[in-house]
Amino acid sequence: MSFTGPPEQKKRWLVPLIKGEEQTCFGVTEADAGLDTTSIKTFARRTDGGYLVSGGKIWTSTAQIASKIVLLARTTAKPDCRRPTDGITLFLHRSRPSAHRSTRDRKLGRKAVDSNQIFITDLFVPEEDRVGDEGKGFQYLLDSINPERILVAAENVGLGQGALERAARYARERVVFGRPIGKNQGIQHPARAEAGPSSRRHIGWCLRAAWLYDSGKPCAAEANAAKLLAGGAGFEAATRAVLTHGGMGICQGIPCRAAVPRVHPAPDRARGPSNSS
Ligand SMILES: Cc1cc2nc3c(=O)[nH]c(=O)nc-3n(C[C@H](O)[C@H](O)[C@H](O)COP(=O)(O)OP(=O)(O)OC[C@H]3O[C@@H](n4cnc5c(N)ncnc54)[C@H](O)[C@@H]3O)c2cc1C
Repeated sequence: MSFTGPPEQKKRWLVPLIKGEEQTCFGVTEADAGLDTTSIKTFARRTDGGYLVSGGKIWTSTAQIASKIVLLARTTAKPDCRRPTDGITLFLHRSRPSAHRSTRDRKLGRKAVDSNQIFITDLFVPEEDRVGDEGKGFQYLLDSINPERILVAAENVGLGQGALERAARYARERVVFGRPIGKNQGIQHPARAEAGPSSRRHIGWCLRAAWLYDSGKPCAAEANAAKLLAGGAGFEAATRAVLTHGGMGICQGIPCRAAVPRVHPAPDRARGPSNSS
């Protein structure tokens, strides 16, 4: 939005968001498409002054409180497009209760953030609520997802490092069998293996991806690699830090314990579902 919109649109959309007066949810994922975003079925049909949108979304976070939705819809059927990524359009629109109903899902974790199914029937979206050009929504989507991947990767490196620093401090202070637990190789070696070289490598991926993004160059592979590697490393580092704390590791209020559910495990190491955007 910040790249593609005319100044009037940016003012109308971005200022209330930045001021915190409005919240936006993100309607991309659909039941029959999953990761295969170009197979979405939600369709925006041209009508006088805008579009009539029908379809449905799943997993839409914060739809219960959001006043606006970033909505991805097909404006040209996939078989009629030159490339599968063509013919998809992005809208930013206020939710309309009559045409846009949402139900909250129950989950195992991440309960602070509501997840919803959304059912949309003939929702009128005015032309001025279209983001950028018709049919280019998939490209705009990638422009927003890559910096998010880089941000999440850097956050995971930081959470893992912070957890390990606290674990090292605890290992120096906690005395068992008459000496600090950090004197034992069983505590030292695994913590060292998670820290130092591996976190430097992951920061390297984050920085390279961020530099490419800031230079306006393609960065999808680097951003994905950074998120995958940093997610796994952050999760392992936080887990190691919890183990170093022994029983205290599962006490509320121990900061490294709090880091564990906040890092995104990489899919191959995931103990549960991960948001793979
Ligand atoms: C807590 C949470 C919050 C979310 N918030 C939002 C949101 O706000 N807005 C939104 O639009 N979406 C949101 N999502 C949806 C999320 O982006 C999707 O879950 C994700 O895109 C994967 O889609 P899916 O769950 O349908 O999995 P599927 O596409 O059905 O995939 C199932 C499994 O198969 C694997 N898989 C699929 N294709 C391949 C392949 N070709 N090769 C190898 N493996 C493959 C996947 O990695 C996954 O492990 C959220 C999800 C969760 C869990």
